[in-house]
Amino acid sequence: MGIENDYTAPISSSSLTNSLMKLLMSAQKETLGFQAEVKQLLQLMIHSLYSNKEIFLRELISNASDAADKLRFEGLAKPDLFENDPDLKITIAFDAEAHTITIADNGIGMSRDEVVANIGTIAKSGTKAFFEQLSGDAKKDANLIGQFGVGFYSAFIVADKVTLTTRRAGDSEATRWESHGEGDYTLETVEKAGRGTEIVLHLKEGEDELLNDWKLKGIVRKYSDHISIPIEMKKGNSYGENGEVIVSDEIEVVNSASALWTRNKNDITEEQYQEFYKHIAHDFSPPLAWSHARVEGRQEYTELLYIPSRAPFDLWDRERKQGVKLYVRRVFIMEDTEKLMPHYLRFVRGVIDSNDLPLNVSREILQESKDIDAIRNGCVKKVLGLLEDMAANQADKYADFWKEFGQVLKEGVGEDHTNKERIAKLLRFVSTHSEGSEPTVTLADYVSRMKEGQEKIYYITADTLAAAKNSPHLEVFKKKGVEVLLLIDRVDEWSVGSLFDFDGKPLQSVAKGALDLGALEDEADKEAQKQAEESAKPVVEKVQKALGEKVKEVRATARLTDSPACLVAGEHDMSAHLERMLKAAGQSVSNNKPTLEINPEHVLVKKLAEEVDEERANDLAEVLYEQALLAEGGKLEDPATFVKRINKLMLELSA
Ligand code: ADP
Repeated sequence: MGIENDYTAPISSSSLTNSLMKLLMSAQKETLGFQAEVKQLLQLMIHSLYSNKEIFLRELISNASDAADKLRFEGLAKPDLFENDPDLKITIAFDAEAHTITIADNGIGMSRDEVVANIGTIAKSGTKAFFEQLSGDAKKDANLIGQFGVGFYSAFIVADKVTLTTRRAGDSEATRWESHGEGDYTLETVEKAGRGTEIVLHLKEGEDELLNDWKLKGIVRKYSDHISIPIEMKKGNSYGENGEVIVSDEIEVVNSASALWTRNKNDITEEQYQEFYKHIAHDFSPPLAWSHARVEGRQEYTELLYIPSRAPFDLWDRERKQGVKLYVRRVFIMEDTEKLMPHYLRFVRGVIDSNDLPLNVSREILQESKDIDAIRNGCVKKVLGLLEDMAANQADKYADFWKEFGQVLKEGVGEDHTNKERIAKLLRFVSTHSEGSEPTVTLADYVSRMKEGQEKIYYITADTLAAAKNSPHLEVFKKKGVEVLLLIDRVDEWSVGSLFDFDGKPLQSVAKGALDLGALEDEADKEAQKQAEESAKPVVEKVQKALGEKVKEVRATARLTDSPACLVAGEHDMSAHLERMLKAAGQSVSNNKPTLEINPEHVLVKKLAEEVDEERANDLAEVLYEQALLAEGGKLEDPATFVKRINKLMLELSA
């Protein structure tokens, strides 16, 4: 709520003052237009989800159950809200003659403003970005819509008119919302005896098969058995075998009506776990894995935590809600709190039900609570355990997980000090030893393949895999057969920067500091390097003079075999790659100058050493520097002059 409504003004053109008009409007029927996104969603949903139409019932029951949760929570402080009707339940009825199905709850209900804000607009953050992804291809979009969560609007898959009547607990007036699911809806203030929401679906032609208690019970049991309050089926008018109308007021509870997580593990089927996930996560796809445990000890709680099989549309949206719900002794307390799951596990969905926290726990109390810290730590360990287990026993599944959430998990290396080691073991990389481009290399794999005398874990960061693979910085490592991790995710700079070491081996960027291969270098290498440095002195000075302030230093190197030159950052400076990323994000960075390393064995460098024409030598030196900058993905400050220089040199060559 508190969002800007995008509906068109009431269709009326009286000259009454605003306030008077408002007063009148609240009493009479007004017609409002849907937010543009709602119209789009409705169209798409009706077409792309038709083959899965039964889900409308799951979605409406899910909302009704949430409404009951909200009432239970608000009722803790204001018992009057229960209005002498304390038994929360959901009722489903149908009428074969009227071609309607009615889903009713005695949950929290909605005020008129809430109806406008909730049913008629989509208040989710990231909605716009989500709609931009839609392609118009029904199959692809059905997938995306599932990710977005369709909720209430799924009613229009089977209905061509929906009438929602709702009264917020404690209010005297009720609101009726009605729509054909096209461009607009009407609102009206009405009377309603019981609190809560009643939704009447006027079925489309051809949907009569739903008007059957077996059919409806089947759907409820399949999708909504886990709902913790009773779902009652009211047999209304149905047709008998000979087409006669049978009137019945029989009522039957169709679900198990106990919170799923409170049941014994052995009594819960895979399917039930999956349907419960879909309910709490608003996701269509089954989860990848879950952990369900009752924890005893200093804190007593039950956790049922799921790893989704794919990233939600708003995984990168800062304003998105967190996905774990907190219950205290079966009463829903709140969901969107970072206190329950750290940011790097924001993809986890599920329920934590505490036995010990006070029922009146507020966000403020949670913020300070040591008890909640203990619960959170326990749950983080469960999730990491789940991932470790998957990585060890179901490599394919883990690869799927990594594809969806690997980048998020990487944040954990910097975020969660306590579990850094465990998270590091869960990381997957592409390296110079990888066959393809799939990240499958673990740090443990890397360490087990380290060469004799190798003391460090080498890595390179770049924008793309090609840029990383072909970087001049790798040349000496290729020559010596030393593996290098190729890091191309934006988060990598931050995660390797926080990791420092693994299994006692420091991580070392191959693009930073002077080349130090430690014991990987034999005596002959060292001698060769020394001699090269000695003999390269004049050319180093020449280049230094030509480049002046552009570089911090020029030096001869043994790290290059094919390239004439490369740039390296200072050991403790920010890498050039990170500097570029920050600049692109509009942040100011201290401009550390790089060191230019040149390969004295390269023909071009030899040519430069011999060059007597000063202008030409300067041009060559500039080109060496500019090439090195380009090769590591950098940007030239003066590309036009670079082109001129190259052309000049090419002409001289061909002359
Ligand atoms: P979602 O459930 O994903 O938020 P919906 O479109 O299903 O999306 O519902 C939008 C909002 O409308 C809900 O978040 C809730 O605030 C409100 N709502 C829907 N159904 C009910 C109901 N039966 N009782 C009270 N509020 C409801």
